[in-house]
Amino acid sequence: MNDTLSIIQNVFAECGIPQYADGEKGEKFAILFEELIAFNSITNVTAITECEDVALRHFADSLTAVDKIPVGASVIDVGCGGGFPTLPLAIVRPDLAITALDSTAKKLVFVESMAKKLSLDVKTLAARAEEIPECRESFDVATSRAVARMNLLTELCLPLVKVGGLFVAMKGASGREELAEAENGIVKLGGKVTDVDAFTLQSAGERVIITVEKISQTPPAYPRPWGKIKKKPL
Ligand code: SAM
Repeated sequence: MNDTLSIIQNVFAECGIPQYADGEKGEKFAILFEELIAFNSITNVTAITECEDVALRHFADSLTAVDKIPVGASVIDVGCGGGFPTLPLAIVRPDLAITALDSTAKKLVFVESMAKKLSLDVKTLAARAEEIPECRESFDVATSRAVARMNLLTELCLPLVKVGGLFVAMKGASGREELAEAENGIVKLGGKVTDVDAFTLQSAGERVIITVEKISQTPPAYPRPWGKIKKKPL
C-alpha cells in the first residue's frame, strides 16, 4: 500500500497536482487502485492495470476537469464506466454531489462499492443518457470522458444540464476536430462553447477540455433515440 501511495504521489507531482495525493486523499486513491485491480480480475472495467498508468491515465486524467466545475455543483457523469472521472472527482471535491450514470449496470457495482468504502457523495444510475426524461435539465454540470464523439455526446449530455449550467467534455488529441463537427448541434441544443483548454498530460499526450455553457432550454425534440443520434448527428 505504501508503494502504491508513493507511485500515485509521484505521478500527481509530475502532473502538477501534488495536493490531491496528500493525506486522506492520497490514501483514498491508493485504496481505489488496489480495489480497482481486484475488481478488474473478476469483471473487466479497465485495460490499464499498472499503478503508474492507472495514476496517470485514470486518476490524473480524471482530474483534468476538476477546476472547470463550480463549488457545490450537482454533477452527472455520463458513461462513467468503472468510475472515471466520477471517483477521482469525488475524492478531491467533497463539495460535489455526483450522479454516476452508465448503461451497463455491472460497472456501477464497482462505483457504488467504492463510494461506500471511501465515503463519497456519489449516487449511481443504470440507464442510457438519452432515456432519462426525469433527469432533464436537472444538473448544474454534466461531465463525460471516452464515451462518444463530441457531435453525438452533446445530444446525450446537454439536455441533462440546467440553463446556466455547464457540459464539460474531456477529450484527447481529436478534441478540436470533434468540436468543429459539433458546433451546429451545440447551438441547436441550447449551448455555447465558453472554453477550450488544450494541454499535454505528461506521457498520456494531448488533452482538450471543452466547456459548453447551457444558455437556453434544449428543444423538446432532443435527445432523440440513440439510433437517430448516431445516424444523423445534429
Ligand atoms: N468514462 C469512463 C472512462 O473514461 O473510463 C468509461 C468509458 S467507456 C469507454 C464508455 C462507457 O459509456 C461505457 O461504460 C458504456 O456503457 C457507457 N455508455 C455508452 N453510451 C451510453 C449512453 N447512451 N448512456 C449511458 N452510458 C453510456
